[in-house]
Amino acid sequence: MVLILGTVHTGYVARDATEYAVGESGVWCLRVDFPVDGHRGVPSRGSRTDRRSGRARFEVLFRLLVRSISIRNPYCYSAEENCMEELEGTVVAGSSLEPIEGTVVVEDGRITAVERDGTDSTDIVVPAFVNAHTHVGDSVAKEAAVGLGLEAAVAPPDSQKHQRLAAADRETLVAEIQRTLRFMQQTGTAACLDFRESGPSGTRALRAAADGEYVAPFVFGSGPADVLDVADGYGASGANDDDFTTERAAARDGNVPFAIHAGEPDATDIHPALDLEPDLLVHMVHAAEAHLERVADQAVPVAVCPRANQVLDVGRPPVRALLDHTSVALGTDNVMLNPPSMFREMAYTAKHFDVTAQEVLRMATVAGADAVGLNCGVIEAGRDAALLVLDGESNNLAATVDPIRAVVRRATPLDVKRVVR
Ligand SMILES: [Zn+2]
Repeated sequence: MVLILGTVHTGYVARDATEYAVGESGVWCLRVDFPVDGHRGVPSRGSRTDRRSGRARFEVLFRLLVRSISIRNPYCYSAEENCMEELEGTVVAGSSLEPIEGTVVVEDGRITAVERDGTDSTDIVVPAFVNAHTHVGDSVAKEAAVGLGLEAAVAPPDSQKHQRLAAADRETLVAEIQRTLRFMQQTGTAACLDFRESGPSGTRALRAAADGEYVAPFVFGSGPADVLDVADGYGASGANDDDFTTERAAARDGNVPFAIHAGEPDATDIHPALDLEPDLLVHMVHAAEAHLERVADQAVPVAVCPRANQVLDVGRPPVRALLDHTSVALGTDNVMLNPPSMFREMAYTAKHFDVTAQEVLRMATVAGADAVGLNCGVIEAGRDAALLVLDGESNNLAATVDPIRAVVRRATPLDVKRVVR
């Protein structure tokens, strides 16, 4: 059965005549296609020839006309293979994050054009978020660190976290990770840079949880260096915990990134971490001038997690100073500490640090993508179409003036119309 619950906002264009799943709540809309046979030369109202595609001579693409009813489901997959659509509204375009009135053209999961033109749409289209530091593997241990400091919260084997992890079977572990990934999707995140414990089996569990899900984890594996057989990079707990020389060399040999926690409870592991020439530093709460200069010299990006630092009471990262020295990305850190909502992390960061809304949005999108070479986080031709569409006329966002400020400081998952890939 096809139920069009509201309209397809921009119209779906597809080659296959198939029903099209909008989300998990049983809401469906219709993907329509009329192959050339039987329809050649009869471009009815609403039809058009796709001149952007080399397939134009062979297809007539039917476009759904109804444009004004909003989809009730907050997220959907849309840009599947052979699918083209246009997203209209205030588009936060390019690496400069410039708001323009216009259209994002998406074909086969890629952005093919960003066009500046007039539109009646009040949607706000931004890159879907890249969460630059997570530990989704601890999804079975939510709130296990309440009232605890860093050491008591995460130290093996007696912390409540490790007790809960030990008590969970693999199926439960994977299922809970999967639910976290779905929450991240609902809150506008397309990818996360995840530190995964438990060696190769931990990495495989995350891969299993992410199979078929929207959010694509970039997995920083841990344990022996051969975790790189299955992980996307190596994630070291910290330079005071072990000698990671071998793992660092293995990552370099494999041409994959090496990331490491540094400067979370204190500054003692920052220089040793920098000695490893990492590709990404995480936290840097206690970075002093000498550390910042090395960070700039080595051009190493930093992922900061301000809310997690606050929960664990380790201090406040010098976000302004870090931004003045290098590329800074934003992460929500361990899921047991905070929900991995980039909306919450952005609002907290914007309101507690000397940063602009535009800087925070950059931290939440392109900075994380660039740190590991993901082809998302920016709305420009050639990038993956990982996009977030917000309702600029929602009860919450109505009457806001600056779309970037609105997204960073005010928006919530209730304002999300769609999360597109
Ligand atoms: Zn971490």
